Amino acid sequence: MSALLPPGVSAQQFAQALTAMRAVVGPEWVFANDEDITAYSDHFAFEDVSVNLASAIAAPLGLDQITRIIAIARDHQIPVWAISTGRNLAYGGSAPRKHGTLTLDLKRNNRILEVNEELAYAVVEPGVSFFQLYRHLREIGSKLWIDTPSPGWGGIMGNMLERGVGYTPYGDRFMWQCGMQVVLADGTVVDTGMAAQDGSQTGNHTYRYGSGPWIDGIFTQSNFGIVTKVGIQLMPEPPGYRPFLVTFAEDEDIAPVSDLIRPLKMTHVIPNAAVTCSLNLEAATSLDRTKYHVDAGPLPEAARRRMMADLNVGKWNFYAALYGPEPVMDAHWEVIRDSFATVKGARFFTADDRKGDVVFGYRTKLMRGEPNMTEFGILNWMPNGAHLGFSPVAPVDGKTALDQYRLAEAICNRHGFDYTGMFIVGFRAMHHIVEPIFSRSDEDQRSRLITMVTELIDEAAKRGYGEYRGHLSFMDQIAGTYGWGDNALMKLSQRIKRALDPTGIMAPGKSGIWPEKASS
Ligand code: ADP
Repeated sequence: MSALLPPGVSAQQFAQALTAMRAVVGPEWVFANDEDITAYSDHFAFEDVSVNLASAIAAPLGLDQITRIIAIARDHQIPVWAISTGRNLAYGGSAPRKHGTLTLDLKRNNRILEVNEELAYAVVEPGVSFFQLYRHLREIGSKLWIDTPSPGWGGIMGNMLERGVGYTPYGDRFMWQCGMQVVLADGTVVDTGMAAQDGSQTGNHTYRYGSGPWIDGIFTQSNFGIVTKVGIQLMPEPPGYRPFLVTFAEDEDIAPVSDLIRPLKMTHVIPNAAVTCSLNLEAATSLDRTKYHVDAGPLPEAARRRMMADLNVGKWNFYAALYGPEPVMDAHWEVIRDSFATVKGARFFTADDRKGDVVFGYRTKLMRGEPNMTEFGILNWMPNGAHLGFSPVAPVDGKTALDQYRLAEAICNRHGFDYTGMFIVGFRAMHHIVEPIFSRSDEDQRSRLITMVTELIDEAAKRGYGEYRGHLSFMDQIAGTYGWGDNALMKLSQRIKRALDPTGIMAPGKSGIWPEKASS
């Protein structure tokens, strides 16, 4: 039994609460020994894991058990942190924001409740992983595609609630959310959108807004409720698919390339969430860093040039795909070639040119929504590797892209890390995902990483750049960078929080939103 207690809860109270929870879910679904608790920690932690652990874990099955566990938590004033599959690695994994919070593990709730082939959507519970939905669709002979993040082992709901992105034309995953069921702190169950109509079966997962304020968005990246069901619209398999790669020779090319992408994306000539990937990230997926550089500090230019030649890639590598009937893809390909050919040194590759290429292979899968784990190869970039996500948003604009890249690279390099980043391109904005890779066994690196990310967030904010998502350890800092108008946005979130969860039992500290009586 763990000695750790939720903040402000006595040992006796906690024991009583766990007894009550065991009675609801069965004794085998409440975990409170040290080994289990460690299993639910952040496996990519850069801080000492022992300062950020759950006090126990309860794994309810079904809506009734979930609401009863929440009632017990409420009665005993025990804060709970919901996870769906708990694989939020690089942003905190399964760990809660506040030490001692009880983890509510929802992964047993893993039913695919519906697949509608004609209207192209699915309805899933929290524990459904990308792999699971993908395999299910293939097993039933469905012609629907999912959209998946690069490690496909995580969950559809957890990732959607974090507003994660993928690589198909449905890459902005939350944009395709339609219909949600939420449990509030007082036990109320709410079905949003069209499903709020008494007895409604029409349009629950085809029209997301229903009538009145559209509230689904406030349950993303928040601690206002626990989501128990979600509808996700899916992409019908297109008649044709052609992934391609365009490589660019110089670091500065990120500017013209981003400017060229903008009209192509906005007019849907490039339909998918394409990626402009840096050389270092490409290399980290498939190469051993020590073969190129053994000394401390970031990779020197000569080593980078060698990697570029060995991999036959560029300093920037643009992966995108065409979808549709052959004549449409032919026509779009012409436009794309003519556009990018204006950048000196641009080289074009199709699937035929990149046979056997590991990176092209897994990007080909991602852009057609096939989950895989290849990108985790970056963990072999150094012994005991892990990575963190620093993820500012940039408009699809060359000047900003170059400035963000230069800023991130300079700060990473100054702290002895490589810049390993990519720009995932949406229609008007790009997710600039910087994934510093570090060694978990190197204490000095871990401490430098904390200073570095703190600086990255602050320096980005000074230039007006904000993150789309952040690691548990930086949630307060990131929230602080959205402080316009005397913190008007955070004050609004806090008012919603006080109204929906007055005693503050749900996920204290999530996205910097704290209950009245608690703080980090
Ligand atoms: P994944 O495994 O898909 O990466 P997680 O299950 O780790 O995602 O969830 C990521 C984060 O999203 C959690 O830490 C939590 O803050 C939030 N979250 C996950 N599931 C829920 C849920 N069902 N309701 C509310 N918030 C959730």
